[in-house]
Amino acid sequence: MAKIAILERKCTGCGLCAKNCPFGAIDLKEGKPELNAACRVCGICVKNCPEKAILKLETRVDSVDKSQWNGILVFAEVSGGRLHPVCLELIGKARELAKNVGYQVSAVLVGHQLESCARELRHYGVSEIAVYDDPELGYFRADAYAACVEDYIRAARPSVVLVGATSLGRSLAPRLSTRFHTGLTADCTSLELRKNTDLVQIRPAFGGNIMAQIITTHTRPQFATVRYKVMNPPSRSAEASGEILNRKIPRGVAESRASCVSVEPVPPKKSISDAEILVVGGRGLRKESDLQMIRELASLLGGDWATTRPLVEKGWNTNDRQIGLSGRTVRPRLLIACGVSGAIQFTAGMNGSERIVAINQDREAPIFGVAHVGIVGDLYEIIPELIRQLKEARA
Ligand SMILES: Cc1cc2nc3c(=O)[nH]c(=O)nc-3n(C[C@H](O)[C@H](O)[C@H](O)COP(=O)(O)OP(=O)(O)OC[C@H]3O[C@@H](n4cnc5c(N)ncnc54)[C@H](O)[C@@H]3O)c2cc1C
Repeated sequence: MAKIAILERKCTGCGLCAKNCPFGAIDLKEGKPELNAACRVCGICVKNCPEKAILKLETRVDSVDKSQWNGILVFAEVSGGRLHPVCLELIGKARELAKNVGYQVSAVLVGHQLESCARELRHYGVSEIAVYDDPELGYFRADAYAACVEDYIRAARPSVVLVGATSLGRSLAPRLSTRFHTGLTADCTSLELRKNTDLVQIRPAFGGNIMAQIITTHTRPQFATVRYKVMNPPSRSAEASGEILNRKIPRGVAESRASCVSVEPVPPKKSISDAEILVVGGRGLRKESDLQMIRELASLLGGDWATTRPLVEKGWNTNDRQIGLSGRTVRPRLLIACGVSGAIQFTAGMNGSERIVAINQDREAPIFGVAHVGIVGDLYEIIPELIRQLKEARA
């Protein structure tokens, strides 16, 4: 931990610190500098002060004994009686990370009637599958689920805990990290594990302008959530391995203050994240009705359609069809981006796609940096021609 201290007796009130602060975190009050809440403790003011009147104070933080925390735990979410696919993607990533430091990967399941899910997990290379199975856990209650996962973490002491950034995971992970007074990074797009077992949690920050590398240096476990479709799932092995441990239900479950009054199943909705082929419209489209050609091309290819955020902001589309940082992450086999510039906030949600085709009239557009095939031209000429040729081929 660090903080900035200003030594009043040395300060001449020259104002250089306020002038050079990139965050506007220093106010000059009656000629004296004062820090405000925007301070990031970057230390630029320390370097800029000619009087050496500003100091960066480092406070010593007691670190846990990291060697006492080993392995990677994946929270294996069960949705509608089946393993949520994000948990397999997390297991794939966990196994890759574990190799670097000789860790084992384990999984924890919470819910009711979990036998088949636990057996299925044995085909994905985890060493241990902890199961909390009880009728009381048949529906999600954040405090009850957190009590179970906490119980297992206290017993197994994993160094890293990975949770899917689903609605359930986003509710569970912060509760857990608070219980362990440790860090959590949400919506990681990449993960690396250092030799010293520090997890480098990489995610876009400052509106997507930088990729931040976040490290939990002093505490364990290290919690991270990762969105569906960001990591690669491992292939299913024919051989089953890994021990299933049926764990005793901890007291926290009975003590839960939430109760379920009724359950209204939401009809399953098609998500753009599941599409194999996606045609995406961007601000290159001049009017709402032009989205029809995006939809038609998608339908002829047997795929789905989506847009960038500005089209959602115009009210042409809903957020569940928006790709990107504040929308959905997609990894289709084929993605055709039409009139999309390729801002980082957009590409962060689609750059894992297998094949990317970009149509843009500006040859310098950043989308061509992530595209496998780039077509420089007017989408109003290219898309109708593609539609015409596809129809002709069908006929
Ligand atoms: C915190 C934050 C989160 C964000 N999250 C998202 C997000 O989740 N998803 C998202 O999409 N954006 C997001 N954004 C916005 C993002 O920064 C961009 O503004 C946005 O992606 C741009 O959308 P666009 O490519 O459709 O439009 P533009 O950037 O305006 O690009 C339009 C492109 O169309 C091309 N074009 C124009 N006419 C034609 C034509 N006739 N034929 C071919 N090409 C043509 C132009 O050359 C241009 O490259 C976010 C921004 C912030 C700050």
